[in-house]
Amino acid sequence: MSKNENISNSEIRSDWDVIVIGGGPAGSTVARYVAEGGRNVLVIDGRESIGSPLQCGELVPTNDEMRRLCPDVPDFEDLLQTPKHAISLRTSEMHLVPPSGKPLRFPFDGLMLNRIVHDEWLVELAKSKGATYLTGTRVESVEGESVRLHNGRVFTARVIVGAGGHNDPLRRSHWNEPSLKIPVKFVLMNGDFGDAVELHFGSMAPGGYAWMFPKEGGANIGVGIQNKFAKGRSLNLFTDDFVGRYEGEVSYRGAGSLPMSGTINSFVKNNYLLVGDSAGMVLPSNGAGITIAMIGGRIAGQAIVNHLDNGASLHEYEYEWKRQMGSVMRNSKRAFRLGSWIMRLPDWLINLLFNPLTKSFVWSFVTCRKPFIIF
Ligand SMILES: Cc1cc2nc3c(=O)[nH]c(=O)nc-3n(C[C@H](O)[C@H](O)[C@H](O)COP(=O)(O)OP(=O)(O)OC[C@H]3O[C@@H](n4cnc5c(N)ncnc54)[C@H](O)[C@@H]3O)c2cc1C
Repeated sequence: MSKNENISNSEIRSDWDVIVIGGGPAGSTVARYVAEGGRNVLVIDGRESIGSPLQCGELVPTNDEMRRLCPDVPDFEDLLQTPKHAISLRTSEMHLVPPSGKPLRFPFDGLMLNRIVHDEWLVELAKSKGATYLTGTRVESVEGESVRLHNGRVFTARVIVGAGGHNDPLRRSHWNEPSLKIPVKFVLMNGDFGDAVELHFGSMAPGGYAWMFPKEGGANIGVGIQNKFAKGRSLNLFTDDFVGRYEGEVSYRGAGSLPMSGTINSFVKNNYLLVGDSAGMVLPSNGAGITIAMIGGRIAGQAIVNHLDNGASLHEYEYEWKRQMGSVMRNSKRAFRLGSWIMRLPDWLINLLFNPLTKSFVWSFVTCRKPFIIF
């Protein structure tokens, strides 16, 4: 039996109030709030152990930073209860580094997670509220109220949630809106890397950025690029070059894909909802997706319970998301569009643009505040 599974496929009932595809931060948060609202919910995840293998830079803002970043989102204490054992290190500064290597330094209260432990904990939290998990089984298709697994079993539910990440099967079959996806590669390296988070911009990561996020006894180091700006050079080469700037033994290599065009136009169709990466809930200007997926997950979970209990429209989820996160996402999209253009400039010009006079503008891009009113 897998780590996250406590019940076998054949023992599970067939009919549910809610089925959630994917038990990552988005899906497990939806499940937690649906179960808390008294409704039965089944989470189906293709991974044997949710969270593994690692596909993440592992950085999240603290709750205080989240309050500053997303001022319209209520009660972070309830939503983000990251336990101590899921935190590797607390960061004190963020360095935004142009090609010259001379950083602009900002105070930044961040948490470096043990992401695998973090996601396992979210699963346990949802289970403790009453959610059921079926792991190691992929969803093949969704039609009407039916969810068909690769092994042929079919489950039904009144509401079906696509929280399967950037390649979610519900999104693929029932939405045709494209999203820009940035390929990302990263390593875990052993060593001592201080406690400042580094984001690097310029030709080392065309159209994206590179990062060094310190952890207890090591660092998470990676690169994300837009292939169309890479002039035929592969992501492997960019990653090898950037990782080669740091000294230490590489203990793990990972890869993934980040949706970077922001949220799609509509997350709700009939009895279907999309949450997290599948709905584009990543802030494109800084790649933050974990906490943003959880904000979406809470709103979706509560809207589903209100729908099932009181007949409220599932579109309440979209209205509430826009109220809480609309302006943050809009600013982040604008910043990313402008940033993508700036990051195609020659390195010497980017070096000039990162100076004490522009420092506050640069910071407002990364933190999704309104940099200018014209974009
Ligand atoms: C390399 C990399 C680095 C990142 N770094 C950071 C960072 O430092 N900070 C940050 O905040 N964000 C970061 N992100 C983004 C963050 O990881 C995502 O935004 C976040 O995981 C979104 O959560 P989710 O639940 O929507 O999707 P996921 O975490 O991707 O979870 C989706 C789940 O769905 C399951 N699934 C998929 N398809 C199926 C199927 N057909 N059937 C059943 N199950 C399925 C998967 O197994 C998975 O468990 C990074 C992403 C990548 C790729």
